[in-house]
Amino acid sequence: MRGMARLVACAMVVAGCAGVAVAQDAVPADAAARWWRGNLHTHTFWSDGNDFPEMVGEWYRTNGYNFLALSDHNVMSRGERWMELSEIERRSRGGALGKYLDRFGSGWVEMRINPGTGMQEVRLQAFEEYAALLEERGRFIMIPAEEITSSFERLPVHINASNLAGRIAPISGESVEDIIRRTMQAVEAHAAEHGRVVLAHLNHPNFGYGVTAEDFARVVEDRFFEVFNGHTGVNNHGDGTRAGTEEVWDIVSTIRIAELGVAPIMGIATDDSHSYHDDSPVSIPGRGWVMVRATHLTPGSILEAMRRGDFYASTGVELESVEFEPGSEGGNGRLTVVIAGEEGVSYTTRFVGTRRGVDLRSEARVDASGAEVRATRRYSDAIGEVFAEVEGTRATYTLAGDELYVRAVVMSSAAPERPTRESVVEMAWTPPVGWGRWVEGSGAGE
Ligand SMILES: [Zn+2]
Ligand SMILES: [Zn+2]
Repeated sequence: MRGMARLVACAMVVAGCAGVAVAQDAVPADAAARWWRGNLHTHTFWSDGNDFPEMVGEWYRTNGYNFLALSDHNVMSRGERWMELSEIERRSRGGALGKYLDRFGSGWVEMRINPGTGMQEVRLQAFEEYAALLEERGRFIMIPAEEITSSFERLPVHINASNLAGRIAPISGESVEDIIRRTMQAVEAHAAEHGRVVLAHLNHPNFGYGVTAEDFARVVEDRFFEVFNGHTGVNNHGDGTRAGTEEVWDIVSTIRIAELGVAPIMGIATDDSHSYHDDSPVSIPGRGWVMVRATHLTPGSILEAMRRGDFYASTGVELESVEFEPGSEGGNGRLTVVIAGEEGVSYTTRFVGTRRGVDLRSEARVDASGAEVRATRRYSDAIGEVFAEVEGTRATYTLAGDELYVRAVVMSSAAPERPTRESVVEMAWTPPVGWGRWVEGSGAGE
C-alpha cells in the first residue's frame, strides 16, 4: 500500500512535469492557425530518384519543413521491394548506401543476396515504416502520394495526388485535356471512396511543353497547378514563343471566371527533387515549397486549408500574413500582404489580375517561319494585367470593383539559396482572391 502510494506520488511528479510540457506541447487543445512549410512533389529510389525514402524525408525534416509528400511515378511505396546494389551505386554514383548506413545503421538497413540472381540487394522500405521512423507529432508528417504519370502522343501529362489510400493507375485518353479530366475524376472518386481529403495538382505544364492553358482551363476538377517547379528542365518561364507558367495561370483563371463562372486555379511551388548527392544541380531539394495556414499538422487539415486558398507558394520569400477582406455589400475588397523581411533585402509586390469584360479572343502562336506551334495561345495583354506595384514589406491593394480576381506576386532582391537559371530571385505567390462575386454558388468573398 505504502509502495503504491509512493508510486502514485512519483506518477504525480511526472504528471506535474508533463503538465508543464503540455503548455508547450506541439498539439495544444486550443491550436491557433499557423504557417506550416511543405513540399508536395518528391522522388526517391521507388521510381527515378537517387536516394532512399528515409534519407529524402530526413533532409526535409532537418531543413525546416513540416510536411512532405513522396510522389514517385505511378507507384506508392507499399509492400516488399528490393533494389540491386549495383543500380543504387550507379544512380547515386556510389554515395547512397554508405550515407544510408551512416545515418540509420545496419540495424535498420536491410540487405540480402537475391537467391535467384546472386546479386546483392537493399530493401526499399514501405511508407508505413519510413513514416513511423521520421514523423514527429505536431512537427513533421509524411503524406502518401503518387505522381500519376501519363502521356498523349509523347506529350507528358503528370498529375500529383497527395494523401492517397492506394495507387491510382495512369490513365489514357483521347487528348491531353481528356487525360487530365479523367485523372482528376479518378482522384475525386478515390477520395470519395476512401472518405479522405486528397489534393491533386497538375505538374509542370511546360515540361516537354506537354500541357497548354487551353488543355486544362476547362477541366474545372483541377484546382491546382505548379506555377513553379524546381527541376531545371520544366521551362517555368516558357521560351519566348511559348508562354511561361504565370501567363498560363492568368489565362486559365480568366477563362474559368469570365467564361465558365467558376473559381480560378491556384498556383503552387514544388521541388520535384530527384538528386540528393550534390552531383547534379538538375533537381535538388529546397527550391520551391508551399506555406499553409492551418491549425493542425495532419494531412486533412493541411490539404483542406490549401483547398480554401489558405496558403502561398514560395521560393524563399516568407510572408507574415496574407489577408483578403472581401468588403461589405457593394464595397470593394482589399488584399494585404505582409512580408517577413530580411535585413538588407528589398521587396517588390505586384498585384496581378484581369478586369471584367476582357476580350477572350486568342490566336495561335507561330514560330519564326510562321508555322503554328502547339502552345498556349496568345491573348489580350489585359489578361494578367499588373494593377499595382508596391515597394517594401507591407503591400495593400484595394480593388476597384471590376477585377475578376487579383493575386500578389512578391519579388525580392535576394538570390535563392539554391538558384536555377530561371529562379534567380526569391519569390512568393498568393492564390487569386476577390473572385467570389463572379462565381455562382461561392458563399465566401473569395
Ligand atoms: Zn513529372
Ligand atoms: Zn516529378
